[in-house]
Amino acid sequence: MDLGERLLELTEKIKIGDFALMEEQKETENFDVVFVEGTPITPQNVARVKDLRERSKILVTIGACACLGGIAELKNYQDKEQRLRYVYKNFEGIANPDIKPVKFYVKVDLEIPGCPINKEEFFWAAKDLVAGVIPKIPQRPVCYECQLKRNECLLQKGEPCLGPSMLGGCGAPCPSSAYPCDGCRGPLKGMNLNNFNNKLKELYGFNQEEIDLIMQRFGELDDMYPPPPAKPENKIIKK
Ligand code: SF4
Ligand code: SF4
Repeated sequence: MDLGERLLELTEKIKIGDFALMEEQKETENFDVVFVEGTPITPQNVARVKDLRERSKILVTIGACACLGGIAELKNYQDKEQRLRYVYKNFEGIANPDIKPVKFYVKVDLEIPGCPINKEEFFWAAKDLVAGVIPKIPQRPVCYECQLKRNECLLQKGEPCLGPSMLGGCGAPCPSSAYPCDGCRGPLKGMNLNNFNNKLKELYGFNQEEIDLIMQRFGELDDMYPPPPAKPENKIIKK
């Protein structure tokens, strides 16, 4: 929606089957492309995403929550039951499962990560999809764009910036505003986060707790310490 009138360039060439933010819902039986935003949490969410997968040729996840688990995944690293009690006085019957990205449940053809996504990246990816091509997101670290902007390196100044290990394409807005990259676009493909973690400790003197807290923020931590496979069914907490 943030693309403004440019969105119309796309809508002239496609039919929108179902878009919750638009007034009219015109869901069709099958889709060429489905964009999924957000983390499937409840059993209904999971069933919905599985159903959409079956009815779509191409499934694309957009945003940190759908691609990585995002902010909701923070609770995986906490005492989940205690968190639930903190938020809800009466939590009987509330599902409180581990949070997993969409690719845990279904095959994903393309991920457009970020919190929020970069609208330019979405636009060119959507244009490729309209042309029948699944684009490839260039695997370059945030540092690449950060250095093109000639920013002073925060990591070298002793700030915990994840730029060397995280996927660029966002234009490095955070380090350009003197805020370290938290990795909302997730790790580069094939990146060994454990090695990066060790370098942050050896070369820059960060402690493990500090690194874990930053890596939790958008859900990268489980890429560093792969957890055991989650149970597919949601657990219902009883009072
Ligand atoms: S500030 Fe962060 S993103 Fe920029 S060059 Fe340094 S480590 Fe990389
Ligand atoms: S600089 Fe890092 S945290 Fe900021 S938008 Fe880019 S990937 Fe996300």
